[in-house]
Amino acid sequence: MKKFKAQSQKLLDLVVNSIYVNREIFLRELISNASDAIDKRRFMSLTDSSLAADFGIEIKVDKTARTLTISDNGVGMTDKELEDNLGVIAASGTEAFKKEQGVKENAELIGQFGVGFYSAFMVAQQVTVVTKKVGSDRAYKWTSDGVEGFDITDAERADAGTDVIISLKPDGDDDKYSEYLESYRLTTLVKKYSDYIRYPIRMMTEMYTEDRQKADEMTILNSMIPVWKKQKSELGENELDEFYKHTYRDYRDPLYNIMTRVEGAVDYTALLFIPSEPPYDYYTKDYKRGLSLYCNGVLIMDTCAELLPEYLGFVRGVVDTPDLALNISRETLQHDRRLKAIANGLEKKILSELDKLLKNDREKYEKIFTQFGKAIKFGAYNNFGADKDKLKDLLLYYSDKNKKLTTYKEYTAELKEKAPVLYACGETIEKISMLPQLEVARDKGDDVLYFVDPVDEFVARMLEEYDGHKFENIASGSEEVKTEKQEHKDLLKRIEEKLKGKATVTATDKLKSYPVCLAAKGDVSLEMERIMQAMGGGVKAERVLQVNMAHPIILGMENLTDGAFDDTVTVLYNEALIAEGYKTEPEFLAAINRLLAGEQKPAANKSATKKTAKKNEE
Ligand code: ADP
Repeated sequence: MKKFKAQSQKLLDLVVNSIYVNREIFLRELISNASDAIDKRRFMSLTDSSLAADFGIEIKVDKTARTLTISDNGVGMTDKELEDNLGVIAASGTEAFKKEQGVKENAELIGQFGVGFYSAFMVAQQVTVVTKKVGSDRAYKWTSDGVEGFDITDAERADAGTDVIISLKPDGDDDKYSEYLESYRLTTLVKKYSDYIRYPIRMMTEMYTEDRQKADEMTILNSMIPVWKKQKSELGENELDEFYKHTYRDYRDPLYNIMTRVEGAVDYTALLFIPSEPPYDYYTKDYKRGLSLYCNGVLIMDTCAELLPEYLGFVRGVVDTPDLALNISRETLQHDRRLKAIANGLEKKILSELDKLLKNDREKYEKIFTQFGKAIKFGAYNNFGADKDKLKDLLLYYSDKNKKLTTYKEYTAELKEKAPVLYACGETIEKISMLPQLEVARDKGDDVLYFVDPVDEFVARMLEEYDGHKFENIASGSEEVKTEKQEHKDLLKRIEEKLKGKATVTATDKLKSYPVCLAAKGDVSLEMERIMQAMGGGVKAERVLQVNMAHPIILGMENLTDGAFDDTVTVLYNEALIAEGYKTEPEFLAAINRLLAGEQKPAANKSATKKTAKKNEE
């Protein structure tokens, strides 16, 4: 006996032990494999007519033997293919498998790379596959109990194709398997999951095996109409969701689907889905963006990237058009005018649906935006902002005042004419909400939008303004206040000298309970500096230490000895670094320790504290 590869074994365990609560889907998986195998043979038969056949899938039940057989006349498999295909799980899948832990993730994973064939072991105590490859005269039998390994032996089969024979597990107290021997149950399952399969699926009960003609009339279970060709009224409950889950190997329902039929310069039907989460490889170069392209129900291309703008790469689905030549090559397709027209139509349609959701089903839109908003933001930024105007109203940002997501339209509706759109950057909502600069904005009643994605500020720069309102980073140093008092000027200068070029120093009125904060002046914000450095660029922000001249610590600094003054500047500068999410400098700890030990006089002195307290009361 050959053993399953180690990873397969683990996975088998997961499957068999019912991570798929939904056992019944095994039938869908096997039928879909059968259909794929027929697709392959049909494709070959286009150039070799000897391979043509009356294609179809048969389901046979033997109640006495407790077996259920799914047969197809597709390509079949050689002994090598049997071993490779049914003994191993795709390498990419195993990689992902190794990384993930915990049942939920594993369940997800199974959905993602589709255990397909293995799902048979949810109901089978043994699976036998008898198969003969097209053009070969040898047939093989693969058997396995799904636990340790499998055997491959020679076998007999009249024609090319594959039989998958399932010996059902015995019924237990809670688990019943006999239902899969009942034709009404199987019929329901085929209708539910496999109705659109393009080849006839027949149920071969004993009664009909004799009379083939009658069998054909009586027993074709599926309508064979692709879901996207059906009228709304013809669609079964959840049929679109089921189609999505099965086609894209996702165990979760899609968040949204769009069905559109267009007649005009180019006719087409499209069925589009927005997944509930990005697929696991979405942010890798392995992810294949695009829609399946059909010509009158015949698949021409699996993932046609030209049908979607890059920023809508998360949308999945199908386009069917009668207007393309079947034998069109990939290269010609790329330049095809009709294809471009379809792509434009789809982009408009998807954006208008998103806009509709934003207006009528905010909760759903926010769900979609939470998952895929980043892609839309990149869309607004990429290509020098070519698409920014059609996307800007779809963007959502967390509002400091309302503690929920808001659009630019909603935000600016509350602004006075020409007042800026205020924003603050940071890694998370929580971190931004603690930025020192926010206090004064809040006191003034100003709302501030949170930019948590690195791309956000780039998009704002690209937009330049929204409806006459310019964008302003609350941590930007350009709005410095001029301090007139000579002693303030002297103090700022003294702090700046101590910082030795690490930052310039200005007074600010944006702070309240914090003595200092870090900002940037000029074109490069702190956030941008971080992003560019992460990308390997050497761009530097011009750092500014903004000082709250009314703060007791600052007021007390004049009276400090030189040593204490220096340590205080070090501590303040590092405090500003921390608030912005930076690492501290090495000298920070020593400075704190000296101040705490009272080796040097601490910063605040009494008279200064009183002065500010009074000032705050006013
Ligand atoms: P997937 O279908 O996602 O590739 P499966 O585990 O369902 O994964 O099947 C693994 C492989 O086994 C298929 O890709 C196919 O090459 C082969 N296979 C499965 N069922 C059949 C069948 N009925 N006829 C021919 N080949 C099949």
